[in-house]
Amino acid sequence: MTPLDAGARRAILDACDSLREESLDWLFRLVRCPSTLGNEASALNEMERLYRHLGLTPQRIPTDPAKLADHPGFSPPLIDYAGRDNVAAIHRPTSAKGRSLVLQGHVDVVPEGAADMWETPPYAPSIRNGRVYGRGAGDMKAGIVSYAMAFAALRRAGLQPAAEVQMQAVIEEECTGNGALATMLALPKADGVIIPEPGPGLDALYTAEVGVVWAWVTVSGRPAHVRDMQAGINAIEAANIIAGAFKDYEAERNRGEHIHAAFHGVNHPVNVNLGTISGGEWNSSVATRCRIGLRVGVMLGYSARQTKADIEALVAKAATHERLRGAQVKLEFKGFMADACVFPKDTAISALAQRSYAEATGGTLRDYPATGLTDGRHFVLYQGTPCAVFGPDAQDIHGIDESVGIESMHGITRSIALTMAEWCGVEHA
Ligand SMILES: [Zn+2]
Repeated sequence: MTPLDAGARRAILDACDSLREESLDWLFRLVRCPSTLGNEASALNEMERLYRHLGLTPQRIPTDPAKLADHPGFSPPLIDYAGRDNVAAIHRPTSAKGRSLVLQGHVDVVPEGAADMWETPPYAPSIRNGRVYGRGAGDMKAGIVSYAMAFAALRRAGLQPAAEVQMQAVIEEECTGNGALATMLALPKADGVIIPEPGPGLDALYTAEVGVVWAWVTVSGRPAHVRDMQAGINAIEAANIIAGAFKDYEAERNRGEHIHAAFHGVNHPVNVNLGTISGGEWNSSVATRCRIGLRVGVMLGYSARQTKADIEALVAKAATHERLRGAQVKLEFKGFMADACVFPKDTAISALAQRSYAEATGGTLRDYPATGLTDGRHFVLYQGTPCAVFGPDAQDIHGIDESVGIESMHGITRSIALTMAEWCGVEHA
């Protein structure tokens, strides 16, 4: 194994810089794929192309709910998994001497929302003010491009990792995490993991993340003409009462004594979001049925199971409200059933990532206790593999006019390249 001397470090960083145009090219290709839930195929195909371009052989890894059902990291699926297999590719060294590494990223994106509110169309990537705009640009297609270009940079410098490097492109990070779980379980355990999820408007290292439970409440009322309104039970109004109970629960869970030390100083870390609502039939009819979809945060030190039990209790109690008398209330759990997780800064991989970032950019990664989640929990909680989650400056992820900083993305590429080279060691390609 060639030691990573100053010359090699210089060559790797120079190679990263020579790949800047190509990085943007791949980012544009990925952002053009509207890879929302169920529509990931084009992005997954693009990942196969990218892995082949790196000289690797992509393989498909199915997400099989029957195989995962008993795993503690499994979340109840929303839709079928046919035709949406995850993609992975493995680099194998000539002689393995260093530590093995997983480079992981999700290709799925959340819906674009009101497309007419975007300055430029969400799946037509564009550059303004040194940033790439587009749905998924920040979360997390730039991160995927960074890890791939970091590998390409080693090759361009005449080197390659002297250990196995797995690249994983997975689905459903935004709703279950089952793609990551299936892919992790299908491949050998590695010595460390890097997931380049975006930072909150700056380059950041995730130090912890909350858990999340998705719940769906369907209220069936009693229909009536509005002239006999008192005879009916309005399902939309009833659902509103239940949603109010969730907001009371949110306030309770954000009380100081429930907040883990890792989230001290974070404003309102446990969030309950009323994300979707559908219901009603006619403006002059008392609504028969209404369904609401909620996302409930889970603080460290509390579990998704406990949160599920809390939700069952709060919905049962809300259903006894006098305005709901005679209504039917159905509660379902589909989507996230995910526990919170800590990413200690002092694991070997995270410490190295911070050092590499400083060398590659001259800056410091900001600590980020995240009030959302990543796929990193699977590796930490269920495999015991240290995981460094760090990535570029992204803005308005899950919002309108999502963007990622271009210089920031290049800095992350340089950081990952140095981290990989030192973690795995290098050999001549
Ligand atoms: Zn993400």
